Amino acid sequence: MIIKCIPGGIFLTNCYIIGDEATNEAILVDPGEQMDDILAEVEKSGLDIIKIVNTHSHIDHVAGAAEAKEALGAGFYIHPEEEPVLQALPESAMRFPQFGEVRVPEIEGYVEEGDEIEIGNLSAKVLHTPGHTWGSICLVIDDQVISGDTLFAGSVGRVDLTGGTSMRELVRSIKTKLMILPDSYKVHPGHGPSTTIGIERRSNPFLTGDLIIL
Ligand SMILES: [Zn+2]
Ligand SMILES: [Zn+2]
Repeated sequence: MIIKCIPGGIFLTNCYIIGDEATNEAILVDPGEQMDDILAEVEKSGLDIIKIVNTHSHIDHVAGAAEAKEALGAGFYIHPEEEPVLQALPESAMRFPQFGEVRVPEIEGYVEEGDEIEIGNLSAKVLHTPGHTWGSICLVIDDQVISGDTLFAGSVGRVDLTGGTSMRELVRSIKTKLMILPDSYKVHPGHGPSTTIGIERRSNPFLTGDLIIL
């Protein structure tokens, strides 16, 4: 399995290429502002991007999706409950003028809890993890987890941005969907460094009970 992280943009957002060497198929997760770097990495990898899948639709994760669709000829997929966050994109672009003009990508289809996204011989299982946004998802490919802005190394996502629900729901999503995975599973967040389920279980203050969640 190939997992390539391409960080970039004003919020240093992680875009991921997840590919299967055997078949050369790959998906692109969260193409943000750093589209030049992303397209260069895709070309260098020689992989064929078959789908663009977003963990959620905040501007820093989705700003490049329309361009990626055109450049790579791949459809764009999100969780159905994320559609209102995507439609709020022009509003977000006004609040963050640094992004310039941002186009809303057309949705090719939806991914929902329990779906398996085929990537050649690999399969990415979709977990619906509401909290950071209504339709946030995480992907599990073998022992690798793409956690979006739901779970970070040592922290969790904010719940006060567009589509955010509550810290209680976010922590419940992490505990019921991610913390049931084995300690050895590697976690690749939407910002910052990778971690593991075990490290977060033992030391993430939002999960250990060291922080009181109201
Ligand atoms: Zn976000
Ligand atoms: Zn983010």
